[in-house]
Amino acid sequence: LLSITFFGAAGTVTGSKYLVETDNSAVLVDCGIFQGPRELRILNWDRPVYKASKIDAVIITHAHIDHVGFLPRLFRQGFDGRIYATPATIELAAISLLDTAHLQAEDASYRNRKKLTRHKEAEPLYTVHDAETVIKRMFPIPFDKRFELTDEIAFRYQPAGHILGAASVKIETVNAGKENTIFFSGDVGRYGSSLVKDPVSPESCDYLVCESTYGGRLHEVENPYSVFEDLVNTAVEEKSVILIPAFAVSRTQQITYIINSLVRQKRIPPIPIHIDSPMAISVTDIYCKYHDLHKIGLEDLTGETCLLEGRNVFMHKDRNSSKALNKLKGPAIIMSASGMMTGGRIMHHLINRLPDPSCTLIISGFMAQGTIGRKLADGEKEVFIHKQPVSVKAKVKSVLGLSAHGDFQELLHWLEPLNPAPKRVFVTHGELSQSEAMAGHLKNERNWDCYIPKLNEKIELE
Ligand SMILES: [Zn+2]
Repeated sequence: LLSITFFGAAGTVTGSKYLVETDNSAVLVDCGIFQGPRELRILNWDRPVYKASKIDAVIITHAHIDHVGFLPRLFRQGFDGRIYATPATIELAAISLLDTAHLQAEDASYRNRKKLTRHKEAEPLYTVHDAETVIKRMFPIPFDKRFELTDEIAFRYQPAGHILGAASVKIETVNAGKENTIFFSGDVGRYGSSLVKDPVSPESCDYLVCESTYGGRLHEVENPYSVFEDLVNTAVEEKSVILIPAFAVSRTQQITYIINSLVRQKRIPPIPIHIDSPMAISVTDIYCKYHDLHKIGLEDLTGETCLLEGRNVFMHKDRNSSKALNKLKGPAIIMSASGMMTGGRIMHHLINRLPDPSCTLIISGFMAQGTIGRKLADGEKEVFIHKQPVSVKAKVKSVLGLSAHGDFQELLHWLEPLNPAPKRVFVTHGELSQSEAMAGHLKNERNWDCYIPKLNEKIELE
């Protein structure tokens, strides 16, 4: 029998884990952690309903932590196979996994120190050692190369845009002599974004698993260049600080690129950019290394005029220089992680800058339900950080044009060449209302048979 089980990103955005099983093989597509509200995060601690030791391999679509972050835990549960990803994804994932392991260790020790835990002792989900073990198991597969995993399963990556190295994956199965193809969208990027290349449309397939992060929404037609031009010019005039919580992977590089392009075009003065995230600093190096995978030319990525590491960009690796930024006076930009404000160095910047009416906080992307980022984006005037109330006097501005996810129109455009219709479409990776909206669009416009799987639901494919 051929089946697919949805162990994550079903009715929600995070925790992507889809298990494809044939009679004698089992492959997990993505292995992400659940993020956001507590009721989702505790799922990371659940006893697995699958046998990790029975999984032959994991195929990773891209390096975001909600797609790779559960790998070390899977090993703890007994997984002993190989992990596949594109070369750039492996380098980015290594950074993200180590960072996540460190954050979890820090968070656990903070909770223990401050006695915030409900348990006897807070434990991290996994350790740095676990993360290192996993990184060694990652095996690079380039785009557009068919790879035979077992007698029953082969796969091929194709570019999905989104972030550096991100892929969609087409899986071919042979089960009891019957052939099938399942196409996993991964996270689909945008058309015409400033940094990442456009996504490549899927070819025909029997089954489609399609993300729906923005299944019911359209991105505003807002040019991020003009928005940052205004914001930076105002900050320079008022000598104020712009605080940008940004994902270390991709978003930090994208914003740095936009601001330095504006400086080069003389639309803004050369404002200092402080990147306060060791992870973002390492990621920037990888972005420079794989320049052929995105839109920046080599000439813009080297030397003094580098748009990502130019003269006005200051990197803060150690904790003391991070803390010193608390006294920084504007005009300046501070960029720090995590992007959804769920942990990391951004937290002390929020405590320090949110009560300051002269500061502008930028919401630079999708904020999952329950995160501090979502609360700020929704205009809440007080947020709790480490159980302490922090009043929000800073101006909060959403810059929407930066999203790494296509909206539903872009998703429909991406699916346009897909003909004939898949036998069935599984709509995943979206809050329920977004998945329902996406399924509605596909039914109305294409008359496709759509289904929104439930968490841990196993579906047999004919
Ligand atoms: Zn992603």
